[in-house]
Amino acid sequence: MCGIVGYIGKKQAAPILLDGLSKLEYRGYDSAGMAVFDGENIKIEKTPGRLKVLEETTHGGELMPGMIGIGHTRWATHGVPSTENAHPHFNASRSIAVVHNGIIENYIKLKEKMIKRGYKFVSDTDTEVLAHMLDYYYKGDPVEAIIKVMHRVEGSYALGIIFTDCPDDVFAVRKDSPLVIGKGEGENFIASDVPAILKYTRNVYYIQNEEIAKIGTDKIEFFNIDAEPIEKELHRVEWDMNAAEKGGYEFFMMKEMMEQPKVIRDTFTPHIKNNEIVFDELKDADIDFSKLTSLHIVACGSAYHAGFTGKYVIEKMARVPVYVDLASEFRYRNPILGEGDVVVLISQSGETADTKAAIGEAKAKGAKTIAIVNAKGSSMTREADYTIYTEAGPEISVATTKAYSAQLIILYMLAIKLAEEKGTLKEDEKKQLISDLLRLPEQVEMVLNNKERIQKFANRYIAAKDIFFIGRGIDYAIAIEGALKLKEISYIHAEAYAAGELKHGTISLIEENTLVNAVLTQEDLYDKTISNIREVKSRGAFVMAVTNLGHTKIEEVADYVVYIPETNKYFTNTLAIIPLQLFGYFVSAGKGYDVDHPRNLAKSVTVE
Ligand code: GLU
Repeated sequence: MCGIVGYIGKKQAAPILLDGLSKLEYRGYDSAGMAVFDGENIKIEKTPGRLKVLEETTHGGELMPGMIGIGHTRWATHGVPSTENAHPHFNASRSIAVVHNGIIENYIKLKEKMIKRGYKFVSDTDTEVLAHMLDYYYKGDPVEAIIKVMHRVEGSYALGIIFTDCPDDVFAVRKDSPLVIGKGEGENFIASDVPAILKYTRNVYYIQNEEIAKIGTDKIEFFNIDAEPIEKELHRVEWDMNAAEKGGYEFFMMKEMMEQPKVIRDTFTPHIKNNEIVFDELKDADIDFSKLTSLHIVACGSAYHAGFTGKYVIEKMARVPVYVDLASEFRYRNPILGEGDVVVLISQSGETADTKAAIGEAKAKGAKTIAIVNAKGSSMTREADYTIYTEAGPEISVATTKAYSAQLIILYMLAIKLAEEKGTLKEDEKKQLISDLLRLPEQVEMVLNNKERIQKFANRYIAAKDIFFIGRGIDYAIAIEGALKLKEISYIHAEAYAAGELKHGTISLIEENTLVNAVLTQEDLYDKTISNIREVKSRGAFVMAVTNLGHTKIEEVADYVVYIPETNKYFTNTLAIIPLQLFGYFVSAGKGYDVDHPRNLAKSVTVE
């Protein structure tokens, strides 16, 4: 959640911090602040609200001269968004300033202790205790003080710290919250995520849990929690700058939707060799897929919806029962798992707190864990037994589109692999599936090319109060993701229902002209869903149907039809979700909302 940026070099720090923080806005935040050290004093500015406010109060950083600084966007977990609670936090003499992402779980106990020692607190945050503890343990060696604090705090943290005593260094440390170190020429950086510093450098160090970085202008040193120096490998980020910029679109979400053909191709390409599905990541895995009697999928939000599609596809194709769980439920319900079980965990960021915790839960019970993750080197990739990457590139918009689509592709390929091992797939069926998979990018492109038509339709619904989504089987899994897209960015109440379940309650909500978006991509279920469409229509609903090309019979019942190109029954989600993503986007943009930064939501949910 939220963001950290730090700078040390020969340029003015504040404008660079502001620029870096603006690249992290997508992560969600409610206040922002900076501390800049001019060689004598640390100047601190912070404010609730948007980064723009901080930019204005500091005249774009001009009012904060100095070449060392740390900046922060806060997503409040302890204490309301206010100036006092915004970061950086500092000790009484303002000789130490700290920014923090994460949660200090035992802060109440620590705070009481520090109060007894005479420390005064000015905020309600958990973070402030760190500033006072650093003050208490600092005896001339910052790394030693940081380690003392690390030994005493429980929870998650990424920290950027400056000390007036150390005018040549910025310090960084992390545990279970993301942080990277950027190495420039005569300047160095810290950041929660690469896009914040990509403009300045492509060379980064990924620091791991409980590693400390001491960052000077020309030198970066790393230490472990025993204060021993450690060597770190420098990585080169290969994304081009465009990948983290809007590329001419009004919002990242549109850019990311338009990237889906490429993302899908990039995701399947490493796994298709000589017309076979291969997962090198699982080559040496201690898993016998042919003996698997069930599979668990655990995730949150859209990743959960992808998993839900996975369930239908895997069960149909490989005849293996699949249990799909929300990570926040899974981790606390003492799931029944044991050796021989396999748990697949899906997360775009690889930092999703609940999904990450579910890995620990599954491993503790002896199950094998496979993470499907987009962000390279993220926490989940280190904690899971095996990792399969989606190749979506950086996803900036809070509402996911391309990462979700990439997750589906990995799940389809896992289904094929599993079916192959289980012997439920004939050779020619497999060949057909692979060739259908290869056609998906151009078919997605065809659907995207019709976006203006969806825009016109969406414009009619910007004042809607409630919108419903219905479908059966895989179409239900598509419907729940379609509803989520709409509600998260347009703030319209949207509800997805298994079409057959409508008459058990929800149908009472249908009024004259209520929009119902029906998804019909499964031929064997067409007639069933058409009956449900008739039910809502006879109660006044207006029905938009998303269905396969050629299914013209739908025009007898639906008021508005969007056709998707023909693919096999397993992969229809990939095509049918596109009009629904576009619909959510255009309703939100039509309402004049900031599509990429929906209220109350954060991109990477690193807290429970
Ligand atoms: N827990 C801290 C706070 O509420 C940090 C939140 C964050 O990660 O921004 O201030």
